[in-house]
Amino acid sequence: MRRSATPLLASGLLTDVGRQRSINQDAGLILDLPRGGLFAVADGMGGHAAGELAANLALDTLSTSFLNGRGAAPERLAEAVQEANLAVLRSAVGEYVGMGTTLVALVIDRAAALIAHVGDSRAYLLRGTELHRLTEDHSWVAEQVRLGHLTEEEARTHQWRSVVSNALGGEERVRLELYGLPLRQGDRLLLCSDGLSGVIEEADLYAVLSGQPDPDVAVRQLIDLSNAEGGPDNITAIVVDIGQAARMPAYPLPSRQSDGPTYVDMLLNERRGNSPVTYLALVLVYVILMGLVLYPQQRTLIGAVGLGLLLILLVGIQVWNRLKRSRSALPGLSSYSPQNAVTLPGAQNAGTLPGERSATDSEDDLPETPMPEDRQIRISPAGNTSRD
Ligand code: MG
Repeated sequence: MRRSATPLLASGLLTDVGRQRSINQDAGLILDLPRGGLFAVADGMGGHAAGELAANLALDTLSTSFLNGRGAAPERLAEAVQEANLAVLRSAVGEYVGMGTTLVALVIDRAAALIAHVGDSRAYLLRGTELHRLTEDHSWVAEQVRLGHLTEEEARTHQWRSVVSNALGGEERVRLELYGLPLRQGDRLLLCSDGLSGVIEEADLYAVLSGQPDPDVAVRQLIDLSNAEGGPDNITAIVVDIGQAARMPAYPLPSRQSDGPTYVDMLLNERRGNSPVTYLALVLVYVILMGLVLYPQQRTLIGAVGLGLLLILLVGIQVWNRLKRSRSALPGLSSYSPQNAVTLPGAQNAGTLPGERSATDSEDDLPETPMPEDRQIRISPAGNTSRD
């Protein structure tokens, strides 16, 4: 078990090549931070060494950029993902053309968890007796299930089940899902590649996560389970335990976008420019200064009223942030509990793949709507649309 520099966390990480691949194109990261940690899983694609390079480059750049970033953790995380994207994109030349990687990153900052997600690697939260999925796959089959063109069962065995619709290295502007949620003492988080979540049922994930207290042993057991099912893909798992209650950070947690991933630059603009309160404070300061200049004989009154208004504004911001944090809920994705496997509206399990992949899909299985060209990420030199 790995204990963090803070007494808040304990974690375990393991990555494994699986039983059917000759090279591991997954990568995992644990980075201690003064108030928590940065954890990430990347699942590279692009043929032989390219996928391995993409995944490791993404995680190296992510950690370096996050550490060197400025501002609040959500903005630093979004910028670090953008930097990781550009690093992969710029290295995708020569034999590495077309490489890319998924990324699921978790920043724990005191009592806040920030999830950044691109692709079909997943994050889960075990809280009490429920296992909540925190990410929605950015995959072609997941989108078709959402649109009602495929059933979940069809998606599990579809020939394009491994095609991701969003990845680092695809274009200069990466689309990202980023949101935060408050953590509680006793929470356990799992980050994993589809070599785990696409092979092991959520009931089995739950059984290991709820039954094995040591995170190192838990990740070992998860990987053993996936290998026991044939180990068709590289497997990576990170388990993080929240050992102590902590205070929430001062910044407001980003909300989960209901319409899927957003371009990072738009997301950052929204977070930085979405504060009418900032403009209100600036206008107030301007009016106070103008009042002091124009009516110097009333400066005591103007100063007192102005300071009072600014104080009210600052207190209002704090109250608003607290209210917003208290309203932060778990995403409306599927959750599993042993008593009752609940599937919420809009939830889907696309990408779940019990055992070996079927090679018997026929043309009849193809959905009516073709896959849009600009959403495809082709990763094999032969134009195969699968990571297999
Ligand atoms: Mg994979």
